[in-house]
Amino acid sequence: MVALVTGASRGIGRACALKLAEDGYDIAVNYNSNDAKAAEVVAEIEKLGRKAKAFKANTADLQAVQGMFREVQKEFGQLDVLVNNAGVVDDAYLLMINEDSLSRSLDINIKGYFHCAQQAALKMMSKKHGKIINISSVSSILAVEGQGVYSATKGAVNSMTATLAKELAPRGITVNAVAPGFIETEMIDAIPEDKKEAYLKSVPLGHFGTARDVANVVASLCSPAFDYVTGQVIVLDGGLSL
Ligand code: NAP
Repeated sequence: MVALVTGASRGIGRACALKLAEDGYDIAVNYNSNDAKAAEVVAEIEKLGRKAKAFKANTADLQAVQGMFREVQKEFGQLDVLVNNAGVVDDAYLLMINEDSLSRSLDINIKGYFHCAQQAALKMMSKKHGKIINISSVSSILAVEGQGVYSATKGAVNSMTATLAKELAPRGITVNAVAPGFIETEMIDAIPEDKKEAYLKSVPLGHFGTARDVANVVASLCSPAFDYVTGQVIVLDGGLSL
């Protein structure tokens, strides 16, 4: 079994890559810029006894994505799981949103997911089997000031998940999304301490989640126990959105 995880050099993507390797998958480790971190993840997967290779490709760039999938096919010969995870957050209130940041968020968080889903579906269709997991966010269903752009991109992820699930069901491919709340990664480290404390008070379970918590849900969706589940958004937020 082979899984491609986008944005797997750090954070949630890294945790998904490691958990899926523990579950017996060989892993294609996608990343954008951090060669050293990606190489570390590859080494950790190899220590688990699985095959892994790093693929540097900006998911917002269709040609780069097409090239990556060609290389993954050459290297691994098949693709069973795509975890669409590579994403960026760049918070700004409406009047402060700048054009470059807006385009970057739309390109990576939406176009990037379509690019990879399209290429993965092409590979999975021939086997009539595959799983696509899109990493969304609780911000897709919960209004957070300053996250207009980010939440719009994650709302798009939820919508595309439902539509692609319906389109790809006859091809034996399921498509689901995971919507995490606050998860301890570098993305969260960037939030100022006082704001972080306020966020923490709003989580009923009283603590932030870990990347491993997300990886466990992703791995469950990849298991046969979830073969009949498609088009769903699984919220994983310690009760934040209740
Ligand atoms: P992170 O720690 O900032 O890591 C981002 C990862 O994405 C890195 O591996 C980075 O690669 C890669 N990446 C960024 N832009 C890319 C591009 N254009 N092409 C390919 N790879 C790219 O992020 P995270 O916190 O783990 O978040 C991962 C996903 O979970 C995102 O979709 C995010 O929206 C979602 N999420 C996170 C949280 C949270 O609390 N952390 C909550 C809800 C949802 P390099 O290392 O090479 O830069």
